[in-house]
Amino acid sequence: MDFFLRVLSPSLLAGLFIEEKVLANSIGSAPEPFRVAVIGSGPAGFYACEAFLKQSDTIVRVDLFDRLPTPYGLVRGGVAPDHPKIKSVIRLYERTAGREGFRFFGNVTYGTDMTLEDFLGHYHQVLFCTGAETDRRMGIEGEDLPGSFPATQFVGWYNGHPDYRDLQFDLSGESAAVIGNGNVAMDVVRILAKQPSSLADTDIADYALEALRHSRIKTLWLLGRRGPAQAAFTNPEIRELAAIEGCDLVLQPSEVELDDLSREFLAGVKDPVHQRNMDILTAHLAKGEDNQERKIRARFFVSPTAVLGTDRVEGLRLEINKLVKDDSGALRARGTGETEEIPVDLVFRSIGYRGFALPGLPFDERAGIIPNVEGRMVESAGGATVPRLYVSGWIKRGPSGVIGTNKPDAIATVRAMLEDLSQQTFPGDLHLADEAVPALLEQKGVRAVCFEDWQRLDGLEVERGKSAGKPREKFTTIATMLDALS
Ligand code: NAP
Repeated sequence: MDFFLRVLSPSLLAGLFIEEKVLANSIGSAPEPFRVAVIGSGPAGFYACEAFLKQSDTIVRVDLFDRLPTPYGLVRGGVAPDHPKIKSVIRLYERTAGREGFRFFGNVTYGTDMTLEDFLGHYHQVLFCTGAETDRRMGIEGEDLPGSFPATQFVGWYNGHPDYRDLQFDLSGESAAVIGNGNVAMDVVRILAKQPSSLADTDIADYALEALRHSRIKTLWLLGRRGPAQAAFTNPEIRELAAIEGCDLVLQPSEVELDDLSREFLAGVKDPVHQRNMDILTAHLAKGEDNQERKIRARFFVSPTAVLGTDRVEGLRLEINKLVKDDSGALRARGTGETEEIPVDLVFRSIGYRGFALPGLPFDERAGIIPNVEGRMVESAGGATVPRLYVSGWIKRGPSGVIGTNKPDAIATVRAMLEDLSQQTFPGDLHLADEAVPALLEQKGVRAVCFEDWQRLDGLEVERGKSAGKPREKFTTIATMLDALS
């Protein structure tokens, strides 16, 4: 064989290997397109569809699934209503949806409406982009008292997400605390601190706007366990907080002053966001406290150790922290044993989203992700690859980064999927016809929502918003969405 190869010309040799490849697997051609299911229509899902449909080496048909009738995941249900520019990324996703080879199947739940076996029986590969829909737990006493909520639920509520629209937030008390210093905490504090009239021309859910109009909250505690130099919020968000009409951002001078470890941290960290946050806070501190009716009291170096109250939230016990360097050189908050108590009526725990396990798939409980190596699903960390199954977005890497971070992440997984294709073998009885999945859903009695249906809903929402001067009035239950479509 060696001798045989040496006497063949390079072009003949190349032809031989191409022929072998084609014989092994000719999927990806016009008569036999590569069929992929993408589950979860948030940013990661849409960027993956875009990456598949933009390349021309392999003919791909992508079906994008979502458990809701509406697409866009956190762009619709997570991005704050007063940040419409961030939502304009939807225009790009609409362009993707217009590409040949794209189909949307909304209102189809993985695991019940379509099982893993159904997906593996109808697609060559399946990509999970299911995000991180639950919250991390604090593990402190009183965490589940009435009046203590994960911030993720409040975000879903004011954004009209069907899962959260029926929650009740009692805003009749005078003070609320938001635990955490990430951008979700900033969103929650800002929505509670703003004058409702300034939200009236956003796409905030109508019931949420009404509840905020009756809010009596005057003091909002924003609680960070480390210092302002280590805060996870970004510059525009803290700047916005300092500029809310009718509300003071109040800082404690001793907590904004840099200690030695923070100075060293700022000198070593590459991302300028931290130094800029410090500059913004220091400049704000110099202005002193104003006499606005509402106050955001930002505290640093404090960790809640208990939510206080008997039948409902009445306060928080905070432990004062100091910064320490751990073995890896990272700065951690360590309790000093000194505590204080603050009276609060509501608590929002905003310490990060968390992925959740999906039926039939491996899950890394510690990291809250599906274990994977560069997007290829594995049985467990360091374990064998699970053939034909992939991940992208927050369920792949955890809840970090901005919307755009999901683009290179999705492109990397798509590249891996395309690379793997030629090596993969598939059962002989795959149902690959265009009509196979719609027929299966119909047989199961599932009312799938296609992209044209969504566009109709979109138009109806925009129409509903017009009279109130809003960009849209969202449908907030699945039943009203399906009713509107029929
Ligand atoms: P995040 O950025 O990871 O922030 C989590 C915060 O919770 C950190 O301040 C963290 O402090 C704190 N924390 C964690 N465990 C804690 C504990 N046990 N006790 C007290 N504090 C604790 O998460 P996120 O705010 O949920 O945001 C998720 C992602 O979405 C981020 O990448 C964020 O930037 C992005 N996002 C962006 C926007 C925007 O662009 N406007 C809006 C919303 C969300 P440590 O730093 O000490 O760990």
